[in-house]
Order: sequence, then structure tokens, then C-alpha cells
Amino acid sequence: MKPTMLQNYAEGKWVAGAGAPAELRSAIDGAVVALTSSQGLDFAGMLQFARQRGGPALRKLTFHQRALILKALAEALTAKKEALYELSYQTGATKADSWIDIDGGIGTFAVYQGKGRRELPNDTILIDGAVEALSRGGAFQGLHVFTSLQGAAVHINAFNFPVWGMLEKLAPTLLAGLPAIVKPASATAYLTEAAVRIMLEAGVLPEGALQLIVGGTGDLFDHLTSQDVVSFTGSAATAAKLKTHPVIVRESVRFVAEQDSLNASVLGPEVSPESPEFDLFVKEAVKEMTVKAGQKCTAIRRLLVPAPMIDPVQAALAARLENIVIGDPRDEATRMGALVSVAQREDVREKIAEIARDGAIVYGDPGLEIANAKGAFISPVLLRCERPWQARAAHDVEAFGPVSTLMPYKDADDAIALANRGKGSLVMSAFTYDTEFARTLVLGAGAFHGRLAFIDRDSAKESTGHGSPMPQLVHGGPGRAGGGEEMGGVRGVTHYMQRTALQGHPRVLSAIVGRYVAGMPVQKASEHPFRRKFHDLPIGYQLTTKAREITLQDIEHFAHFTGDTFYAHMDEAAAAANPLFGGRVAHGYLILAFAAGLFVDPDPGPVLANYGLDNLRFVKPVKPGDAIQVALTVKDKTLRKPDQGEVRWDVVVTNRDGETVAAYDLLTMNAA
Ligand code: NAP
Repeated sequence: MKPTMLQNYAEGKWVAGAGAPAELRSAIDGAVVALTSSQGLDFAGMLQFARQRGGPALRKLTFHQRALILKALAEALTAKKEALYELSYQTGATKADSWIDIDGGIGTFAVYQGKGRRELPNDTILIDGAVEALSRGGAFQGLHVFTSLQGAAVHINAFNFPVWGMLEKLAPTLLAGLPAIVKPASATAYLTEAAVRIMLEAGVLPEGALQLIVGGTGDLFDHLTSQDVVSFTGSAATAAKLKTHPVIVRESVRFVAEQDSLNASVLGPEVSPESPEFDLFVKEAVKEMTVKAGQKCTAIRRLLVPAPMIDPVQAALAARLENIVIGDPRDEATRMGALVSVAQREDVREKIAEIARDGAIVYGDPGLEIANAKGAFISPVLLRCERPWQARAAHDVEAFGPVSTLMPYKDADDAIALANRGKGSLVMSAFTYDTEFARTLVLGAGAFHGRLAFIDRDSAKESTGHGSPMPQLVHGGPGRAGGGEEMGGVRGVTHYMQRTALQGHPRVLSAIVGRYVAGMPVQKASEHPFRRKFHDLPIGYQLTTKAREITLQDIEHFAHFTGDTFYAHMDEAAAAANPLFGGRVAHGYLILAFAAGLFVDPDPGPVLANYGLDNLRFVKPVKPGDAIQVALTVKDKTLRKPDQGEVRWDVVVTNRDGETVAAYDLLTMNAA
């Protein structure tokens, strides 16, 4: 097969790099599968193109429109994923491995497009948190907002997940309104290039929103500014070099690093070979060693087990590893494919030798030639380190292959201290049924880990496992793991935006964010708001109802009708002894129900459904004889379909003295 010359996508064009290209070889048989070069690219021009074309076009779109782009890209990738699977074999990945990379990547887009439309506004400004009162009279208030950065995101990815690695960074970046320049690791760049082609061919990305570099980054870093973000995944050594680049330091360029990690998994102190957690631990350990041939940043490198369990665990691991068929990833029987390259295998062998100085290899032979001699195959290798406190390499050296080290611990504190010797990890898992141990682990090891997964007999079946970073959850870890955070749902979007504190009159704040801010001038309803369609309801449109008295008879009637005869509503003596009430009070739900009775306009109209309340607070008790009145104000609006939109109403219920007794947001779906 003739190797493909990979192309860069720079300033709106596919271009091959100049000079002698680098050869990218198949992990399976060493044949050259692609040639690559980025020489001659105008890197400053690429950044300018992103900033001047991609950024402004993306920033014009609302979060919902950007989310729809992600949706279309996910659909385009799904439609053509078979071609990606075919290429992926050359990276040494089995079909199951490729599923994590390709379908996992597409799934990340799917999650982000959904979150973008559900959790982000149909706007270009994102509010962060609540309005902060800054003055007694309420004429000067504070609010935090996020706006899109005005530069470019430079994504530098590792070789092990050529598709997922790109998409998990791209999803939050594009949603944030920032264009991206993607630089995949050379070893597997042919797969990333193919995925980029599919996305560009979908024709939904604005020009300049996505560019690709296949090869070195040249002088790109020299042209970065404070509006750019570098998101890096790879080795700690490269991260250290890049994040100390003088321009990164001088311009305070955001640098997000995901790097090495000596992840641990702990078998609970209470677990015996008969416990379900014992088998679950062994299965997961073998899975983590062999999926992607152990080339996963989240793979378990250190297996911490109670000292009396080390022999049974070792025996069970060896028995399972024995069944792992290693070979050509295209064969259905194969359970573990190859490392990405022969060079990577050499690196793994060297690292195993280093770790072995802290103990011994108890399963596997790293020198064994397996399957195709020209491929990068290696046996899984289990090491055992009897004295983990004397060990160094076992806690410091990451062999990025099917390699794990078994070590004993004495008690919970010892397990925690050993886990923390990884000096900061992406993930730790614990196989335990003991919830007290789980809490102790969180308190003792949380500060050293980006994610903690507790797996037991009740969760195992549905568990996403130790090694899978989920788009909804934070991926990243402190210290050695890089100190960065990616994904984590909407949190990941804000990594590519600037948070700004705003101060001003509620009228100004409201106009900026397009949302009602209490204290702003309202528009008194000229007709009942329930008679108005979605688009005819301005923010701040307010209905104030008449007052309604609440009698003792109302309370009794409500109590018997609903069955809620709680003493505070029904028993004068008991309610009088209650320090909060000092006598009978109306039910909170009665106040809600009566409030609805006051503000609802009964006839059929544009309000289609009431679908919930948010932030409900009963602020003050309402006693029999008092009266309530409601202010219903249009707070926020989100179009959900061309003909329907969600209206968020600010509801404030006051008593005869004008004091707030209840406040909440009411959500209705309205015809547009
Ligand atoms: P690497 O050598 O550090 O390379 C990572 C990326 O950096 C590649 O795209 C590489 O491009 C690029 N790069 C290297 N030198 C550069 C420079 N001077 N300027 C700009 N870019 C540069 O890491 P690797 O060996 O490919 O990946 C394996 C390592 O990544 C392991 O240590 C693993 O722990 C880590 N990893 C971490 C995570 C995580 O999420 N924390 C995930 C996966 C992997 P070229 O390929 O073109 O050199």
C-alpha cells in the first residue's frame, strides 16, 4: 500500500508540508503508512486566520447554535466512522480499543451538544453564579459573566487517542466560541487527519474554526498572546518544556496540561478472595493493563492490596492474563494489540527494567517477541514490589504500556500515603464495600487525585470503570498529572472563556445579560402575561396580583384535603411551642397553590405547561389572617423549538407588610 502524504489544514486550505517528510509506521508490521511534514507553514498566519476569521464567526453564534454544530459534526463522524476504524488498526488498536477512541470521541461531542443546549443559554454571554448585593439600596450590584476569549486554542495531543484526544478538547473549545488549531502526535496523525477531513467536509464549521498541523509546531509559540490557550496532553517532560516557553510566561498564556500519571487502584482492607470486590478488582486490573495495550493516561499503574491478599491477587491476575491473546488487532480472537511503535516498545522495556529494580517481574516477559516481529507487540508485565516504602521507580516511572505493579499496604492510612506517593494522579479507584473506608480515602487522597472511582458489587455492572474519563466529569489531576482540568461538563467550556466581574445598576446588568435582575425598572403588564406568546414577553414584564387573605379555615381545608396535618398548621399549642412559628402557620404548599391561583389566567392561551420550580424558599411564615400578594416577572427566556420556548418567571410572594414570604423561579413552556 502506498503511504499517504498527510496534509495540514492551514488558513482554509489543505497543504502538504515542505522538505523531507517523516515516515509514520504501522504498529502491526512496521510498514510506512503515511508521510508527514508541517515545514513551510506560516504559523503566525494560522493564528491570525483563527483570530480574524474563525473567532468572530464563532462568537456571533449562540451557545445553542455552536452546540448544533457539534451535533452535526458527531453525525458526520458517525456516518463515516468505518473508515476511521480501518485506519485505527494500524495504530495497534483492536476494535474494542478503537471504540473507546472513535465512538468515545463522538460520544463526547454528543454529551457536549446536549449540555450546550440544556445547560447553557441561547446567548453569547454566560452568567456565572448569582447577583451579589453590593449596596444597601440595591442600586449597585455585582454579577460574574464569562465571554469567549478572542484568540485561538492550540491543542497538542498525545498519540494514544488520536480521535478522542482531539474531540474531548474540541467540544468545549468550539462551544466556548474559540477557534482551534489541532496538532496531533505524529505517530498516529493519519487517523486524526482523516477525522478532521470528515469534520471539515460536513461543511458546518465556520472558516477558521478548525485548523490542523501534522508535524512540528515551528515558531507557533512565538506568536501566542494572552487571548490564546494551549491545551497539552503528553509527557511531563514535553509539558515542562512548553509551559516555560518565554512567550507563555511573558504573555500569561493559559496552559492546560494533562501529563504522566501513576494511577493507583486500592483493594479495600475488608476484602477477601470470597468478596465480590476481589474478582471485580482483578478483572478491572487486567482490563486496564490490556485495553489499548496499556497506553492510557488513566491506566492502573499501581495495584495496592492489603498485605495478606497479595498472593491470592497475584495468582488471580496471572490466571487472567494467561487468557489474553496478543496479536494482530484485526483478528477477532485478539484481546490485546500492539504498542503504537517499536520506539514506544523500547521505551516501555526500559521503564520496566527501572521499575523492576524496586521488586520483581512476576508475570510476563518484556523481551519476548510476539506475533509479527516487525510490529510493536509486547507481553503484559506484572511487577511485584514487596517494600513499597523503599521503592522509588514504582511510584515515579510510568511505563506507558501493559504494565502494573502490585504492592502491599498495612492499613487504610498506609494505602492512602502510598497512593499519594504518585505525587498527583488523574484517577484512583477503590474496590471496597466499606463506605467508611471510601470516605477516609476521599479525605486522605482527594487532594492528590483528579477523580476517585468507587466500584463495588452494587455498581460494577453499570460502572464506566476506572479508566474512562467521562465528559460530564473533570479529567485531569494535580502535580505530576499536570495540574490541569479538562471536560467536567460546562466547566470545560469556561476553560476557554474569560470570567469578568460586572458592577453596576440592575438596569445595566440586566441589559447586558438579557435577564431580569431584581431592582431594575419593570414594565407593568398592560395585559395578562399568560395572554402573550413567547416572543411578545419582554424581560422585566411584570404582573402584580391583588391580595388574598389566608384564613384558619383555608389552612384546615387544605390540611384535610391534602392529608398534610402537620402540627405547625393544626395544633395551636404545639405550634406555639415551636421557636420558629410561635403559633399556627399556613402550609408552604398552600402559599404556592394560592399564589398560582392569584397569578394564573385560566383560559386556553400560549402557556402550554408549567414544568417546575427552581430555587424555592419559604422566607417567612404566614399566619392566619395575613394576606399574600404575588409579583410575577419575566426573568429569562430560552427558545427550545422554533414554535416553543421556556419562560423563567421570577415569583415573589409578599405579606400585608410587603415582606417577602416566598420566592422562586417558575418555569413554563410557551408557544412562540
Ligand atoms: P510527548 O512526546 O510529550 O508528545 C505529546 C505531544 O507533544 C505530541 O503531539 C508531540 O508531537 C508534541 N510535542 C513534542 N515536543 C514538542 C515541542 N517541542 N513543541 C510542540 N509540540 C511538541 O508524549 P507522547 O510520548 O507522545 O505521549 C505519551 C505520554 O503522554 C505518556 O507519558 C502519557 O502519560 C502522556 N499522556 C497523558 C494523558 C493525560 O490525559 N494526562 C493522556 C495521554 C497520554 P510529536 O508527536 O510530533 O512529537
